[in-house]
Amino acid sequence: MAQQEDIFKKVVSHCKEYGFVFPSSEIYDGLGAVYDYGQNGVELKNNIKQYWWQYMVLLHENIVGLDSAIFMHPTIWKASGHVDAFNDPLIDNRDSKKRYRADVLIEEQIAKYEDKIEKEVAKAKKRFGDSFDEAQYRTTSARVLEEQAKRDNLHKRYQEVMNAEGGINLEGMKQIILDEEIVCPLSGTRNWTDVRQFNLMFKTEMGAAAEGASTIYLRPETAQGIFVNYLNVQKTGRMKVPFGIAQIGKAFRNEIVARQFIFRMREFEQMEMQFFVKPGTELQWFDEWKKRRMAWHQALGFGAENYRFHDHDKLAHYANAATDVEFKLPFGFKEVEGIHSRTDFDLSQHAKFSGKKIEYFDPEDNTSYTPYVIETSIGVDRMFLSIMCHSYCEEKLEDGQTRTVLRLPAALAPVKLAVFPLTKKDGLPEKAREIIDSLKFHFNCKYEEKDQIGKRYRRQDAIGTPFCVTVDNQTLEDNTVTLRYRDTMKQERVNISDLRGIIEDQVTITSLLKNLK
Ligand code: ATP
Repeated sequence: MAQQEDIFKKVVSHCKEYGFVFPSSEIYDGLGAVYDYGQNGVELKNNIKQYWWQYMVLLHENIVGLDSAIFMHPTIWKASGHVDAFNDPLIDNRDSKKRYRADVLIEEQIAKYEDKIEKEVAKAKKRFGDSFDEAQYRTTSARVLEEQAKRDNLHKRYQEVMNAEGGINLEGMKQIILDEEIVCPLSGTRNWTDVRQFNLMFKTEMGAAAEGASTIYLRPETAQGIFVNYLNVQKTGRMKVPFGIAQIGKAFRNEIVARQFIFRMREFEQMEMQFFVKPGTELQWFDEWKKRRMAWHQALGFGAENYRFHDHDKLAHYANAATDVEFKLPFGFKEVEGIHSRTDFDLSQHAKFSGKKIEYFDPEDNTSYTPYVIETSIGVDRMFLSIMCHSYCEEKLEDGQTRTVLRLPAALAPVKLAVFPLTKKDGLPEKAREIIDSLKFHFNCKYEEKDQIGKRYRRQDAIGTPFCVTVDNQTLEDNTVTLRYRDTMKQERVNISDLRGIIEDQVTITSLLKNLK
C-alpha cells in the first residue's frame, strides 16, 4: 500500500514537472481542488475527448452531439431535483477540524470488511494450493463468516439510512459511525459532530441587481443541457428512438472533501451521453451500454483485471438501475464512469415544470410516449488520472540506470514523434525540420536539438512520445534515419519516406477505435 501511495505521489509530481497538470493560480498559492492543464496535459486531454467523441458520435449512427451552455434557466435545477436533493451528508471531526463525507466513511468501513474477507481467502488459497475449494471455504470458514456477517449487517443498516422515508436519516448515519467505532484518520479520535446536508451547487447572479438579478447555478452535470434540448434535437435531426445525444463540457461541484489531486475537483469536465429508448426496453439497453462502455475502456490495453463494475446499492431518486465502471488506481478501485437507467424522470420533470409536452411519437405503432433514458457519464479528468497512473513506469535498465517512461497508448500521447538532429551543424537541423514539415499535418511532431541524444530520449520517454527519429550525416547521403521505439527502446534504420506509414498507423485515434470491433 505504501508503495502504491508512493507511486501516486510520483505521478502527481511528474504531472507538474512535465507540463501535464498545474495547481490553479499557483503563484497565489493555488485554489482548492482546481487545476490547470499544461502544454502536454491539454494534448492528452484532447485526445481522450476525441477518443470518446469519435466512438460515441462517429461510430454510432444514432448518436449526435450537442454543446449546450453552462448557464441555464434556474428552474431546470428545481425540476431535476438538484436544488432540493443534490446534497452530500457531511461530518466534522472536532479534534482534527477535518471534514468528511459521512457516506464515504461508512462505505470505506464496508470495504474494510470486504478486504479482510479477500485476504483470508487469498491466504487459504496459498496454504491449500491446488486442492483449495474457494466456494466451500467462503461458506464454512469461521473467520470469513464472521467478517461477512459484520459486513452484511453494516450494509443493511447503511441502506436503511440512505433510503429512509423523507430522505437520508442523518442521525442514523451518525449512529452507524459511532457504533462502528470509525475514527478520523488524522486525529484518531471519535469526536464527531452531527451529520448535516450540504448542497454542492455553485450559485451566481445573472444581470445587475437593480434590474432584478436572478440566482443561477453553474451546472453540476452536463446532462440537463441534453434533456432540455431533447425536442430540438429530435425534431431537427428527425431522430428515431432509440437515439442518443452526446456532450462534452465543464461541470462544477462544491465538493466537501476535495482530495486526491484531479480525482475530485470543484471544476471538472464530463463526457455524457443520454440514450432515449422505448419504455420497457431500458434494462436491455442498460446492459448493452454496460458492455459497450467497458469495451471502450478496455480497448486502451491496460488489462481487463484493472476494471470492474460496481452496482449501486443506493439508487438515485431518478434511477431504476445504476452501475459504476471502476478502475484500479493506486488508492484502490474507484469510479471513473457512471451508467444509469434514469427512467423518464428527467423528461417528465421538465415537461411538468416547463408546461411543454415532451414526448415521442412512435410511427411504428402510432403511440406517443415519454422516452426512457440510459445515461453514460464519464469524467475526463478521472480518465486522465487513471491513464497517467497506469502509464507511469520506472524501469531498471541493463546498465543499472533507471528511466521514467510514460507508457501511454500511442494514440493518446501528446507528442507522437520527436525529431533530433544528431548535431547542430552540417545541415542536420535543416534536414530534421524538413522531416517535421512533411509529417506535421498528419500527427503531432516535436523538434529537439538540445543536449545529448540519450537525454533527449529520456525527456521524450517522460512525456510518453512513442517514436523518436535521429538525423545524422548518413541521412544526408541516403535519406535514412534512426527510428527509436519508446517501449522497447529498439532502434532501426528506416527510410524517411516510410516514416509516415510506420507511425501513423499506430498513433491515430482510428487505430484505437479499430480495437473495438
Ligand atoms: P462520486 O461518487 O465520486 O462523487 P458521482 O457518482 O457523484 O461521483 P456522477 O454524478 O455519476 O459522479 O458523475 C459522473 C462522472 O463524473 C464520475 O464518474 C466522475 O468520473 C466524474 N466526476 C464527478 N464528480 C467529479 C469531481 N468532483 N471531479 C472530477 N470528476 C468528477
